[in-house]
Amino acid sequence: MASRILITREGKRYFVKDISKDYHMEYGFISKVDLKKKQGQVKTNTGTELGIFEPSFSDLYRKIKRGPQIIARKDIGFIMAETGIGKNSVILDSGAGSGALCCYLANYAKKVTAYEIREDFLNISKYNAEFLGLKNLTIKNKDIYQGIDEKNLDLITLDLPEPWNVVEHASKALKSGGYLVSYSPTIPQAMDFANAILERKDFAIIKTSEVIEREWEMEGRKVRPKSRMIGHTGFLTFARKI
Ligand code: SAH
Repeated sequence: MASRILITREGKRYFVKDISKDYHMEYGFISKVDLKKKQGQVKTNTGTELGIFEPSFSDLYRKIKRGPQIIARKDIGFIMAETGIGKNSVILDSGAGSGALCCYLANYAKKVTAYEIREDFLNISKYNAEFLGLKNLTIKNKDIYQGIDEKNLDLITLDLPEPWNVVEHASKALKSGGYLVSYSPTIPQAMDFANAILERKDFAIIKTSEVIEREWEMEGRKVRPKSRMIGHTGFLTFARKI
């Protein structure tokens, strides 16, 4: 189904899921005839001008179904930049959860496989992968603590209660120089994971970081950090297979 994004000059976005009918919003409505436009501007019946375009990946991503808590985009961006994944990368992610991380990775990588132990979350992540049109992402109903089928991987990402249970399996599945990245909301989890890596000879520990994003208000001379921000999401620990 064709969809559109409408955007105000202040950056407020509206996702029009179905362009076959008029779209009603706080500024009146945009007629279905105008919604056929793929670029430029449209006017509501009350005269408000809005930008119109086809949704990008990140516009669609904001509309995904939510099951378990998803990884924030600031953390996803950091994982991608640190590991340098790209169009030739083969990746494994677990647990898939809502599919936020594995879908984002699949938008950049060659092939992504994700494991999810719970069937209800498997269905949510599969729904999201289809909604985003990702053909290079396979989501399996599997317990990663039991092992990893895939071999020669460039990156394994973990968002799990006990990531240290995966280190041995990851060692067999990663290629030399491949990355193992674990995301944990609490320090005891990050600590136990880092110590599990440090005990071994087949991994090098790179670093543990948290990413803090502070948004600013930019309006005339009212230029200052916004009063509200997300205080904490999670810790990211990076290791490399030797
Ligand atoms: N990173 C995901 C969210 C993951 S939430 C996102 O961005 O959307 C953690 C998920 O791990 C949950 O869905 C949970 O069911 C799953 N999980 C927990 N233990 C697991 C295991 N042993 N194998 C596979 N998945 C597991």
